[in-house]
Amino acid sequence: MKKEFDIQEYMTKGVERVVADSIKATLKNPKESAFMLKFAASSKAASKRRAELKNNGEHIPPFLIASITSQCNLHCEGCYSRCNHATVDTEPVMQLSGEEWNGIFEEASDLGVSFILLAGGEPLLRKDVIEAASTHQDILFPIFTNGTFINNAYFDLLDRSRNLIPIMSIEGGREVTDSRRGIGIYDRLIRNMDEFKSRGLIFGSSVTVTTQNIDDEDLLFAQKSFITITMAIEYYGMSYKAVNHAADCAGAIQSLESMPAII
Ligand code: SF4
Repeated sequence: MKKEFDIQEYMTKGVERVVADSIKATLKNPKESAFMLKFAASSKAASKRRAELKNNGEHIPPFLIASITSQCNLHCEGCYSRCNHATVDTEPVMQLSGEEWNGIFEEASDLGVSFILLAGGEPLLRKDVIEAASTHQDILFPIFTNGTFINNAYFDLLDRSRNLIPIMSIEGGREVTDSRRGIGIYDRLIRNMDEFKSRGLIFGSSVTVTTQNIDDEDLLFAQKSFITITMAIEYYGMSYKAVNHAADCAGAIQSLESMPAII
């Protein structure tokens, strides 16, 4: 009989793969690999906790996505968050405080959650929440950022707190990145990457794959030379302009599926 698809098992295996890849990718970096080995032990304990809860009928996902702000300084073409008005230019209303987010992180930890993806808007606008996240060393927090607020204070915080992993959005080379995200963004991201590299910090990129960037040589160069984690995001057009931009990208997505999560 065909085994029923178990979403929880599938996600747990995905987490195990990311942890194993992370350990491999950081072997030559003592500070990073010491943290990753410690995190691997926490992640194993978290899997055990989720399995116990599952036996009691409670299904806990291994990862969460937390959108911690509705504010952002950029207006990228085709931004899904602006398209559905989750990111706006007005002051946030009814935003959770840093303390409330800290409580959520604590609960997540107790339940066996291993990853919390921090998103926005631009999550680095919420330094209070990022600082709260840094104290939960048993949880890995990939931070999906546009990279423009990464200053010395953030470099120091990320250096001290290896459970915070910046994932910077980039579209490929200068032309394609700046035309979608704004003039000067590409150079800013490359400067950030240089600094991360010189400090021995793990970091990643988030790439929205379209037929316009799949063959971009600069993107391939960046992946091979600087970036430790690559996340390929499938593009769904949500406006007339965006639909045109996304046309016929299915083949591009398929060709990225064979890439490892961590390189
Ligand atoms: S940085 Fe992110 S949230 Fe801000 S406009 Fe660009 S895609 Fe949207």
